[in-house]
Amino acid sequence: MKPVVGVLALQGGFEAHERMLQGLDACTRQVRVPADLDGLDGLVVPGGESTTMTLGIAREGLAEPLRELAAGGGAGGIPVLGSCAGLIMLDRDHLGVMDMRAERNAFGRQIRSFEADVDVEGVPGPPIRGILIRAPWIAEHGPDVAILAQVDGCSVAARQGKVLAVSFHAELSGDDRLHRLFLGLVGEARADGRLSAA
Ligand code: GLN
Repeated sequence: MKPVVGVLALQGGFEAHERMLQGLDACTRQVRVPADLDGLDGLVVPGGESTTMTLGIAREGLAEPLRELAAGGGAGGIPVLGSCAGLIMLDRDHLGVMDMRAERNAFGRQIRSFEADVDVEGVPGPPIRGILIRAPWIAEHGPDVAILAQVDGCSVAARQGKVLAVSFHAELSGDDRLHRLFLGLVGEARADGRLSAA
């Protein structure tokens, strides 16, 4: 059976993530209320605007269910991919899923949006062309967080257990290797689940 990946769809660029995941043979489900989280194998928190997303999450009562589902990347949690505002949502000051602090709009205002070659640890082949739109960087992190990539010495990709976060929009570049890495974690988590259920 195909994995079912939820894409938080309160606001922001969720459709491009869905297209990319569907292209990699995953089923997707738009997540707007807690019941949409039932039975998911993975979750994507897209880019957008983190203040609006925070308000939407609070309005729908999604904060606690999302936190529980991700479980800080621990053994019980499902794999999560956060991109741009999604990275911000996963940090200590928001959902607290990753032990890190994101700095919003760290690379400057919209006019300073740019593209960069990002060499992400765990992604084979040449660097990914990262699109950074008023992007955050990871300003601080604890020992359980591994930094996977830097741009100009600034941390733009990280992993904590089964949780991946990137500052850039991997869903817009037409390069699906980051989503493949994420779906690899989803596949591993499903296989582990099957083993422990057996
Ligand atoms: N600047 C946005 C924020 O702070 C994030 C931008 C993005 O997701 N492209 O929420």
